[in-house]
Amino acid sequence: MASVETVQGAIDAGELGVTLAHEHVRFRDEAVAAEWPGRYDEQAELDAALEAVGAAKARGVQSIVDPTAMFGGRDVRFMKRVADESGVRIVACTGIYSYDYLPHYFANRDVDAMAEHFVSDIETGIQGTDIKAAFLKCAADAAGVTDNVEKIHRAVARASVQTGAPIMAHSMPAVATGPRQVEIFEEEGVDLTRVQIAHCGDSEDLDYIEGLLAKGVYVGLDRYGLEMYLPIDKRNAVAGELLRRGHAERLMISQDYCATIDWFPPEAEEMFTAAGAIRNWSMTLVFDEVVPALRDLGVMDDDVFATIFTENPRRWLVG
Ligand SMILES: [Zn+2]
Repeated sequence: MASVETVQGAIDAGELGVTLAHEHVRFRDEAVAAEWPGRYDEQAELDAALEAVGAAKARGVQSIVDPTAMFGGRDVRFMKRVADESGVRIVACTGIYSYDYLPHYFANRDVDAMAEHFVSDIETGIQGTDIKAAFLKCAADAAGVTDNVEKIHRAVARASVQTGAPIMAHSMPAVATGPRQVEIFEEEGVDLTRVQIAHCGDSEDLDYIEGLLAKGVYVGLDRYGLEMYLPIDKRNAVAGELLRRGHAERLMISQDYCATIDWFPPEAEEMFTAAGAIRNWSMTLVFDEVVPALRDLGVMDDDVFATIFTENPRRWLVG
């Protein structure tokens, strides 16, 4: 079987095993962290990552796909420490996580120059290490597919065509970014069966989701616990119906959990929980609540579980 790059080196894709398709072992603004490092407690961040990943491991998780890219504070040395100390494999990416902003560095360079940076992460290594990216990441959010977002998508697409690496695209169903994102990949000649449109599970619009599935892409039902976008019972109803309609081989179920995230002051987690904006958001929610609920709905058995949590991530990563 083909090999997959992890932060501990290449492994046979068959070794991935039970895989969470979208989790972050740490998420922080790299510029703020570089300018005010004293505001961050790296040991506390590591402890939180190990606690979250360890809990997932206790539910049987063997590998985690971590799509933390530029602007999310990607740090493959930190990811490798988490993998080494937890015994859970971590699959890293390259790309840019921006809803519009581009630094002058990339604004004044063309698409191919940007793509070359991604290719280097895939073929040579990331951040001066020999740790290689296994996939590409880009994003479109409330602002839609702006000119800068389109530029990143095209660069990601060209790096995918050049290297064969798959793509994960953050999307925002509320403003229907998915179809245009897929269209750009298609225009650039990307193999759409290697594209994953993340966060489709924020929507209850089955026509929208099936429209994407019809293009051959994977869709992420990957924000379980983020009730502010869609509560868990509604997420399960969507997942159940997609499974009933025969889409098991194109679904990713995950939580987009961030073991630590610096977007809000420390007291915010309590406020969000109290307000019902998040509920049991973790790296284990899908095993503790979602899989049992889908079994109750009669749409999840051991085969479907293996399809979603082992075969789909592997097939997306290696084709
Ligand atoms: Zn994410």
